[in-house]
Amino acid sequence: MSKLFRILQGLVFLALFLYPHPLGAALPPPPLPKLQTVPVLRVGYVPLPGVFFKDEHGLYKGIAFEYLSTVASYMNCSLDFSPGTEEENLEKLAAGELDLVPTAMAHEEQGLASLSLGPSIGYVAFQAENEELRHKLQAAIGEVDSLAPYYRFHLLERYRPMEIPLSLTAEEKAYLTEKKVLHSLTSEGQPPYTYFKDGEHLGIIADIMEIIAKDLDISITSAPLQSSEARLHAMNTGEIDFIADLYDDYNWAAENEVWLTKPYLKIDYVAVMNRDHPLPDAPVIACARGHFYNRTYTEYHYPSSQVRYYPTMQDCLRAVHDGEADIVFTKTLTVQNDIYAGGYLNLYTPGSVVFSHFVSIGVSRHADPRLFSILNKEISHLHTQQIASILTRHAHSMGESGTLFALIYYHPMKTIALIGLGFLLLLLAMGLFFFQKRHYHKKLYHMAYTDPLTGLHNMAWLTQHLPELISQQSRLREEGKLFVMSVTLDRLAFMKETFDLKLLMESMLATLQDSRTENPWLLADGINSEGTCLYFLCCEPEGMSMRQAAEKFIRDGTVMTIGKVPTIFTHRVGLMPVPPDDDVSASWLLDCAYSAKMEAIATDQNLFIYDERLAEQYHQRQEMESLMHKALAAQEFQVWLQPKYDLATRNTLGAEALVRWESPELGFLPPGAFMDLFERNGFAVELDYYVLERVCEIQSARLKKGLPALPVSVNQSGLHITEQGYLGRMRDIMDRWKLIPGLIELEITETAFIDFTTKEQREDAAQIIDDLQAIGYSLSMDDFCTGYSSLSMLQNLPMNVMKIDRDILWEAEKSPRSMNILRHIIALGKALSMSVLVEGIETKEQEELLIKLGCDNGQGFYYARPMPVKEFYEEFLPKHS
Ligand code: C2E
Ligand code: MG
Ligand code: MG
Repeated sequence: MSKLFRILQGLVFLALFLYPHPLGAALPPPPLPKLQTVPVLRVGYVPLPGVFFKDEHGLYKGIAFEYLSTVASYMNCSLDFSPGTEEENLEKLAAGELDLVPTAMAHEEQGLASLSLGPSIGYVAFQAENEELRHKLQAAIGEVDSLAPYYRFHLLERYRPMEIPLSLTAEEKAYLTEKKVLHSLTSEGQPPYTYFKDGEHLGIIADIMEIIAKDLDISITSAPLQSSEARLHAMNTGEIDFIADLYDDYNWAAENEVWLTKPYLKIDYVAVMNRDHPLPDAPVIACARGHFYNRTYTEYHYPSSQVRYYPTMQDCLRAVHDGEADIVFTKTLTVQNDIYAGGYLNLYTPGSVVFSHFVSIGVSRHADPRLFSILNKEISHLHTQQIASILTRHAHSMGESGTLFALIYYHPMKTIALIGLGFLLLLLAMGLFFFQKRHYHKKLYHMAYTDPLTGLHNMAWLTQHLPELISQQSRLREEGKLFVMSVTLDRLAFMKETFDLKLLMESMLATLQDSRTENPWLLADGINSEGTCLYFLCCEPEGMSMRQAAEKFIRDGTVMTIGKVPTIFTHRVGLMPVPPDDDVSASWLLDCAYSAKMEAIATDQNLFIYDERLAEQYHQRQEMESLMHKALAAQEFQVWLQPKYDLATRNTLGAEALVRWESPELGFLPPGAFMDLFERNGFAVELDYYVLERVCEIQSARLKKGLPALPVSVNQSGLHITEQGYLGRMRDIMDRWKLIPGLIELEITETAFIDFTTKEQREDAAQIIDDLQAIGYSLSMDDFCTGYSSLSMLQNLPMNVMKIDRDILWEAEKSPRSMNILRHIIALGKALSMSVLVEGIETKEQEELLIKLGCDNGQGFYYARPMPVKEFYEEFLPKHS
C-alpha cells in the first residue's frame, strides 16, 4: 500500500514538473510581506514638452517631473499626477483638491506659497498654510542639492532646448563672408576619434567640423597637428585659424596663448591591462610623453617610481602587451581599435571610466576676436543628438574591424574545430581525387591496352610489354628458346558472315583459354586492331622444338566447336625466334612474325619460320620507308595506265592509273612491292593524292590541246575513309583542275568501308560516296567479291561501276557453279544500273566466257598490260579506238 502511495506521489510530482502552470495555478499564492503605506501628494501639472509631459509610451518625462519626483522620494512621498491649465491647477490647489503644482513663476496669491526648484526648472506652489509640507519640501530640496550638486545640471543637459538658434552679429557675419575658408589643425592617428587616410581628415572630430562648416556656410580645411613650436607659429602668423581638438587644460592654453571655446565633446578614459599578467600592488603606468593626462591625472595619482614614459600611445600599448608596464590609459572611443588593430589581443579593458576631459576648439589669442565668439555660439548651437549620432556611428564602424587574428584569439576552440573540419574535408577531397584519378587511370589503361571486342590485350600493350616479358625469361632467351608466333585463321571473314559474331567470338576465346591452360609455353598474347591476327610470346616446351610446338598448336585448334557445331579451321602461323643476344625492338619481332605468317599464306603453308629472305624483305621495307618521302618530292613515282575496253567492240573505254616506283636506290618497283607497306605506315594517303594530281594534270593537258580525254580511274586507299578533311581536299583538287564530271573515277575496295571494330559497314559510307559523286567523281567498287559483305554493300552504296575481281573469273572457269554465280553477279550489277567490268582477263577463253555471261567491259593482260602514259596515248590509243 505504501509502495502504491509512493508511486502516486511520484506521478503527481512528475506532472507538476511537466505541467507547472495548470497545477501551479491552483495552489494558493504565497503571503506577501506587509507594505508600509506612504503619503500620496496630488500634483496638477500643465503638459509642456521638456518641462512636464507624457511621451508616446505614456511615460512621464520632463525636467520638472524628474526633479519633483526626486524631491518627493526624499520626502518619502509618492506622487499622483493630473493634467490641467495653470489657472485650473492653481484653483484646485487653493481649494485643497491638489497638494502641489509645478509652475514657471512663483505664486504668492490666493493663500499660496512657492519654492524654487532651481534656475530653468521653475517653482513648486502649495497652500501657504501647509507649513509641514513647506518644511518637508525645503528639507528635501536642500538634501538633493547637497548630496547631488550636479543633478540639476544633468537634467538641464538632458532637457535643454532642442535647438539654440545661431544668432550672429552683423560683424560676425561679415567676418565669415570675408574669410570663407577656415584653416585648422587636428590630432591624428587615433581612429575613430581623429585620423587621416589618403590625406583626408576622418573620424568623429572631422564629422563635427563638417557640421560646423555647414552651419557657418564656410569650408574648414584640416591638417595634422605639428610640433608645438610649429603649431604656435602657424597660429600666431594667422596661417591657421584654430586647433580643432584641444583638451580643457586651461594652464596649457594660457602658456600657449590660446583661448579655449566652450567644450563640444566629453572624452572618457579607461585603463588597458594585460590579461596574462596579474596586476601587481604597485602597477607601472605607461604614459605617452607630453600627453595632457600625465600632468592632470597620472602624475597626480601615482608616485613617479610607477610612471614610465614612452614616445607614443602605440609604444605604451606595446609595453603593456610585452609586460614592461601594467596599465595604460586610453580613450573609450579608440580602445577597441588600439587593441585590435595593433594585434594586442592579450590586452583588455575592464570598461569603467577612470577619468574624463572635455574637448574644445583652441583659437589664437592674437586672432580676430570675432572668430572666438562665432565658434562659441556655433558650439552652443550644436545639438547633443547630432554629436551622439556621430559617436554611435563611429563606434559601430569600429565593431566591424575585428581581424581574423582576433577571431582566432577569442574563439580558439571554434577555430581549432573549424581548422580540423577543414583539414578533414581536405583529406577527404584529396582521397576522393586520388581514388577518382586511380579509377580513371585504370579505365584509361584498360581502354588503351585492351581490344574492345575480345577483351584481349591489344598490340600497343604487347609492343610495350614484350621487352620486359623477354627480359623476365633471360635464361630461356640465352638458350635460344624464346620465339614470337603470329596466328591467323583462314577464312575468318567467311566465318564471320556465317556465324553469329558474338557466338563465334565466345567460342574462339574459349578455345584460346583452353589452349593457354594446355600450353603453358604460351607466355603472353595480344590481338591486332582488326581482330584478325593473334601474336604470342612463346618458349619451346620441354622436348619439343619451336616448329613442333607450333604444329601441335595448329593441330589442337583445327576443330573448334562454335555453338554446338564442330568447325574446321586452318591456321596460318608465322614464327620468329627471339635472338639470344642481339638487342632487337619489340615491333621488329612482331613484324617478322607477321611477315613469316604472310609468307605462309602466300606459299599456302600452315607454318613459316622467318628466314634470311624475309629478313632481306624486311630490310628492304625499312629502306623504302626511309626513302619514300624523298621519292615523292623527287617525282620518282610514275603513273602507268592500263586500258579498259568494250568486250564486244574491243574499243578502249578508258584506263586505270597504276603507280610504279622508279627508284635510283631500289630499282623499278610495282605497287605490290610497296603499297602494302605504305598502307600500313599511312604514306598511301599522300601517294594517292600525288597520283590523282598527275592524272588530273594529264586530263587537263589533253583537254587544253583539244584532244579526246577518256575517263581514267585512280585507286584510293581505304585510309582515306577515315582521313580528316578527305572530302575537302578532294573538292579542292576538282575545283583546281576544273574537269568535266566523270573524267576521273575513284576505285575504292569494298573493305575500305568496313569499320574494323564493329566489323560493320561504316555509318557514314553512303554519305561519303554521295559527297564524292556530288563533287564530280565517278565511283567504282574495286576487287568486288573479295570482301565478306559484298551484297550488303551493293544495297547501301550507290557506286557507278562494279569491278569484279579476277579471282571470281578464275573460279568461274573451273566450276559451272561459280560460273553461275558470276553470271548472276553481272546481272545484278546491271540491274542496279552499274557499269560492270571484270579485271584480270588473260585469255581469249576468259573473254569469250565473259561475253557469254553478259559482261560488257574488261581489263587484263590479254588486251593490254599497264604502260607509261606517253605510250598509252601515243602508241596504244591510236590503234585501239
Ligand atoms: P588493282 O586496283 O586491283 O589493280 C589491278 C591490278 O591487277 C594491277 O596490278 C594490274 O597490273 C593487275 N592486272 C591487270 N590485268 C591483269 C591480268 O590480266 N592478270 C593479272 N595477274 N594481273 C592483272 P598492279 O599495277 O601491280 O597494282 C596492284 C594493286 O596495287 C592495285 O590493284 C591497287 O590495289 C594497288 N595500286 C596500284 N596503284 C595504286 C595507287 O595509285 N594507289 C593505291 N592506293 N593503290 C594502288
Ligand atoms: Mg584498281
Ligand atoms: Mg582490282
